[in-house]
Amino acid sequence: MRIAIIGAGAMGGLFGGRLTVSGQEVSLIDRPGPHLHTLQSEGLTLETDGTAHRIPVRAGIAADVTGEQDLLIVFTKGPDTVAALQSCTHLAGRSTAVLTLQNGLGHAERIASVLPTARLLIGMTDWPAGLRGPGHVASHGDGVVKLWSADGAEDPFIHAVAATLTAAGLNCTASPAAEVAIWEKVAFNAAMNTVTAVGRVTVGALADSADGRRLVREIVEETLAVARARGLAVEAARVHATVAKAFEGHRNHQSSMLQDVLAGRPTEIETINGTIVEFGEACGVLTPTTRTMRDLVRLIDGAVGAT
Ligand code: NAD
Repeated sequence: MRIAIIGAGAMGGLFGGRLTVSGQEVSLIDRPGPHLHTLQSEGLTLETDGTAHRIPVRAGIAADVTGEQDLLIVFTKGPDTVAALQSCTHLAGRSTAVLTLQNGLGHAERIASVLPTARLLIGMTDWPAGLRGPGHVASHGDGVVKLWSADGAEDPFIHAVAATLTAAGLNCTASPAAEVAIWEKVAFNAAMNTVTAVGRVTVGALADSADGRRLVREIVEETLAVARARGLAVEAARVHATVAKAFEGHRNHQSSMLQDVLAGRPTEIETINGTIVEFGEACGVLTPTTRTMRDLVRLIDGAVGAT
């Protein structure tokens, strides 16, 4: 497959590196800067469970990549998605599949507003990845990918994409239940990311606070109520178990939103809590705690809170 990764940071590097090694024709697209420069001049250093491999990759800005692709994988952060897609319209035709595995909600709508594809895929992944330095991506442990078409219809291209990811060692399942997994993950992120970012605390410090744990429970329950109102069979027990596992096993972890706040970068608040609040309003489900956390993170982001 001809595959372009739009946003070749931590996750784009992990997926792009593995797909390259598995023999696909992969282009990594990112913004100009030291990371892209290193990808071009030295290749990608992909470190998995402490072992690093140097992988020669094809990397550039969007304009460097030419020709319609079979698959575009979107791995920018939420605030950058639309601008990144606008620079990649020359890579997408009617038969190009476009896959988003970003955290948050509403990505399919954002992609459809920019790229003309009938093959839109949504999904979630719990593979972890971090940028250790320019051109250097690290990951550990195992993960999965769950995906399905954005319109819910079955089509052979869904299974072709899933098989390609699985052949690259990324453990992909194609199932309509992917949307349930997306919502259960966004419930986790909406709670854990915002409370740790506003409180400026690690996961362990959050776990030790009764107030923090209550906020997390409330946001999870509100988010799942919106999902149920949209007809999804989400399971609260599964999300609470993931929270408990993080409280126990990732005590020193700084959430990505806390890292963004500390680094002065824009957060993914709009695509995570912002979209949950919006979807809740559309189906008459109140999300007061999720909304308050959205507003507080907006304040931190320096954005003016609407409503
Ligand atoms: P990241 O910041 O490491 O990578 C994003 C990349 O997009 C950066 O390299 C950035 O330069 C690039 N980018 C920004 N604007 C661009 C543009 N206009 N054109 C091209 N490239 C552009 O972020 P990440 O951690 O890889 O996360 C990506 C997405 O995956 C997010 O939605 C995140 O929530 C989600 N996610 C992350 C993890 C993880 O463990 N890191 C796990 C699952 C899901």
